[in-house]
Amino acid sequence: MRLRGPVRLAARAAAWAAGSGLALASVALALDVAEPALAHNPELAGDVVAFYPEHPDDEVLWGASAIRAALDEKGADNVYVVLVSQGRGADPLPRPAGWDALSPAERGALRVTEFRAAMHALGLLDDHVIVLPDTVPGPADNYAEMRTTALELQRAAERQGKSMTHVAHSYVLDSNALHRGDGQVIRSLLDEHEITSALFWIKPWYRFRVPAADLVRFQSLTQADVDAVRAAIREYTTSDPADGRFAIGFRSTPGYFALLQMDPRMTSVLHTAAVAG
Ligand SMILES: [Zn+2]
Repeated sequence: MRLRGPVRLAARAAAWAAGSGLALASVALALDVAEPALAHNPELAGDVVAFYPEHPDDEVLWGASAIRAALDEKGADNVYVVLVSQGRGADPLPRPAGWDALSPAERGALRVTEFRAAMHALGLLDDHVIVLPDTVPGPADNYAEMRTTALELQRAAERQGKSMTHVAHSYVLDSNALHRGDGQVIRSLLDEHEITSALFWIKPWYRFRVPAADLVRFQSLTQADVDAVRAAIREYTTSDPADGRFAIGFRSTPGYFALLQMDPRMTSVLHTAAVAG
């Protein structure tokens, strides 16, 4: 049965409270106890690093500290973020005024605005922020374009005599099939020996399913890193309709933003390609 109106809103609010609020608070407590501060971040293997969020906000939620570490280690000239799809299927709660009347393309454009602002706040060079075109009218996965772009970045790095690390979603440890598909693109390129180095970010609670030797963690260890990540979060949580900003990222996944902000070091948890998938 399809719920309607206030009943549907109430049902969603209850689901959020049970599914996101309480559960995530428990997870955050466990993480805070078990996630010690790193002395320093691990070094990324490649001279150039590219990150591939499937949707706007995935990169901040699961990879902000890893992206900051890449910027710190490699310099902004050597870091890219590639947005694979616009996330036109987002379902923000509460709905921004006029949301229901927007076309999927208009919804996607609003999300891309949040994404570009967040990447600027995080420290990316604006021309190193790549938004792949959504090629169908509704939500799309864009994996073919993702593969092409990864190969182009890889070849460009090689022409400069540089190595490269690609960072995508986990190809196996994610409840979202679109995220796993994103990771599988990079995993396939590794298996085909088209690329040589990759890491895969996970939602933090999946770390209990990864052998310790295959976990790679990054944290915001300097005030500059903390400030940059918080500024990026604000780009997804600020609502200013007069400025065309509707906090779509936050309204779509408020619990995940709460969880990230409960972690003082905003840990990004990734795994190596050794994880079976
Ligand atoms: Zn996503």
